[in-house]
Amino acid sequence: MATAILGGTLIDGTGSSLLRDAVVLVEGDRVQATGRRDELTVPPGTRVIDAAGKTVMPGIIDTHDHLASHGYDILTRTGLQTVISYSNLLTARAIRETLEAGITTVRDAGGLDRGFKQAVEDSLIPGPRLLITLGFISPTGGIGDHTTVSGELIHPNPALPDGVADGPAAVRAKVREMIRCGADAVKTATTGGVSSARHGPKDQEYSREELEALVDEAHAQGKLVMCHALGGPGLELAVACGVDSIEHGGFLDEHPAAIKAMASKGIYYVPTYSVYVHHRKSPFEYMRQRSQPMLEHHIRSLRMALDAGVKVAMGTDAGGWVHAQNMTELACFVEAGMSPMDAIVASTKTAAACIGLGQDLGTLEPGKWADLLVVDGDPLADISILQQKERLLLVMKGGQAYVDRL
Ligand SMILES: [Zn+2]
Repeated sequence: MATAILGGTLIDGTGSSLLRDAVVLVEGDRVQATGRRDELTVPPGTRVIDAAGKTVMPGIIDTHDHLASHGYDILTRTGLQTVISYSNLLTARAIRETLEAGITTVRDAGGLDRGFKQAVEDSLIPGPRLLITLGFISPTGGIGDHTTVSGELIHPNPALPDGVADGPAAVRAKVREMIRCGADAVKTATTGGVSSARHGPKDQEYSREELEALVDEAHAQGKLVMCHALGGPGLELAVACGVDSIEHGGFLDEHPAAIKAMASKGIYYVPTYSVYVHHRKSPFEYMRQRSQPMLEHHIRSLRMALDAGVKVAMGTDAGGWVHAQNMTELACFVEAGMSPMDAIVASTKTAAACIGLGQDLGTLEPGKWADLLVVDGDPLADISILQQKERLLLVMKGGQAYVDRL
């Protein structure tokens, strides 16, 4: 049955001006039409949802999440503290709560196996549309190398391939293995990070030959490459080798030539501010020491990227810090200097394009999937209202309501 959402103020995700007293007509899992109420006829027999005084907008897309991650302490990270079935139930809850928080699509940046994606697609559990990467491809000693200090492999989930590969041939084979196991995109890292055990944010991982092989093989198989890179020569290498998105990029401001190259090559920037809000307050001293001085660089990085014309997409790196608080990223964007409308576009249209689903997702236009929110209030006046779950009156994915307070 068709559904008409009537009378709301439409933010369609394209960044164009608002449409007041709007109609969004949904047929099956797609948007059939949008327009002003006095210009669009609602066919008889259509189910009507009254959204007068409310905001109607696309569902939010998180291009960088870790739905199967539940903490940064070593016992949690290595799966030594909980039985795997319990961890899986935590993950299922995180998936449901993330959808209920208005996130209708998630690209998981590592840790989520294909069983969860299948469970959502088969309606076994409610959840956002899921794209998965399974795990980081990184070298021995790199950020995806899950071994003890003695070098023994810690392997908490047999459904996830180990991500370690050294040398161009092995890296190429590892890309194929990830795709064989269901990866929708290829995740790699060319630097350490704030929370990584060994390499820090500016330490390089991978040689040019290895990264070229990785990007070439992923692209040959039609997959995008999302690359964790915070700063230093590893960040420059990632841009030079043509990865499709730079994840985190906390010290991108120190590389103006790389920013220029990102703009000309169409490489997306996914800053993931929210995770560093957490890291700056981490109980672990090394995480505080790495993340606190990064803040001013990270904010400057966004301004420089936007000025240069780099496309910026929303990602939270949720997981270890908390789940279902993904909307904090939009407030972080605004605090870093974006307008609320630009923060919404970065989280809808641009995020969809960043993960390769721009044809079907990200805006409320005819033919796109009907993933939308009805919000009590005006997020353009106060972006933080999106974090208030009681204000999400309707969360619809593919024409089906998962939250309905109307
Ligand atoms: Zn991440």
